[in-house]
Amino acid sequence: MSEYTITYIKNENPKEKPQSDQLSFGKYFTDHMFIQDYNPERGWHNQRIVPYQPLTLDPAAIVFHYGQTVFEGLKAYRTKRNNIQLFRPDKNMERLNRSNDRLCIPQIDEEFAIDAIKHLVHIDQDWVPNAPGTSLYIRPFVISTEPYLGVSPSATYQFIVILSPVGAYYEAGINPVKIAVENQFVRAVKGGTGEAKTAGNYASSLKAQEIVSKEGYAQVLWLDGVEKKYIEEVGSMNVFFKINGEIVTPELNGSILEGVTRNSVIQMLNHWGLPVKESKITMEELYQHYQNGELEEAFGSGTAAVISPIGELAWEGKKMVINDSKTGPIAKRLYETLTGIQYGTEDDLFNWTT
Ligand code: PMP
Repeated sequence: MSEYTITYIKNENPKEKPQSDQLSFGKYFTDHMFIQDYNPERGWHNQRIVPYQPLTLDPAAIVFHYGQTVFEGLKAYRTKRNNIQLFRPDKNMERLNRSNDRLCIPQIDEEFAIDAIKHLVHIDQDWVPNAPGTSLYIRPFVISTEPYLGVSPSATYQFIVILSPVGAYYEAGINPVKIAVENQFVRAVKGGTGEAKTAGNYASSLKAQEIVSKEGYAQVLWLDGVEKKYIEEVGSMNVFFKINGEIVTPELNGSILEGVTRNSVIQMLNHWGLPVKESKITMEELYQHYQNGELEEAFGSGTAAVISPIGELAWEGKKMVINDSKTGPIAKRLYETLTGIQYGTEDDLFNWTT
């Protein structure tokens, strides 16, 4: 049990809930939110669940100017038996604290944060949609609130959790996408903030995404920020390749965000007797394997899509069509098993759900 108590102010004007076919991603928000405040005298305090509402912040708040902020993303799933379950929230809270550390934000009590999320989801449980593939996206985040224009860590913060019902990522079944290898812009560099889930990484990714979207690609494949040689991530997902029977993913190097799904994929593949090699892999090597007919599958992993097969990769004017642009057997099996665990239709071998 945690030492905190949460006060609750009920929303007396609940909103109308959207139809499940209107949902898409991150457009609708539930009736309540969780907030706690931080100051150096009291630490984290004033834990409360209140009606979803705008924030009032000083225009000089550090978050607006220097982006001292972190966030997380996880989901609550409604099972066939009408329970609601979270998938590995402990992993998200561990990562939140690693991000906090990188951004000089005080640590949060992970166990309490999970309790607070459960409490909030419980209150807004009618917002967890039940159509196939739908879920309730949970967005915990921390903002720096001190009004001060000096570049230094804020003295005060707010930790907030908001909830958003989201539609099925795949309307018509798991579907491979076209990806462009990004040669101009980089997402993160070693020693930078790539390992942290912080706003700046996403702001700096927008330009590349904007350009490739116009060219008909779903997302970019990010290369390392120094030599633009080594493969890092795909869009906002981690990336896996099956090369000559072996599954490979870029090793964590300080600029790659460690995905909860990545970790789950590695654990599941190990369990299936398919060990994953975590190593450096260059775009040049990948292309060689492709030319030798050894690149059997490629896919991204992340909370939103779970598994997103890559059907085509464009790199320096060359086009690589992977597995005839069809979903490969490993991607399919992982997708079915992981979503099965999330929605409670598959055995939860590793006790990932709560
Ligand atoms: N990389 C980046 C940059 C991301 O934003 C995400 C999404 N959180 C991921 C990878 C995948 O992480 P997860 O599996 O925890 O969703």
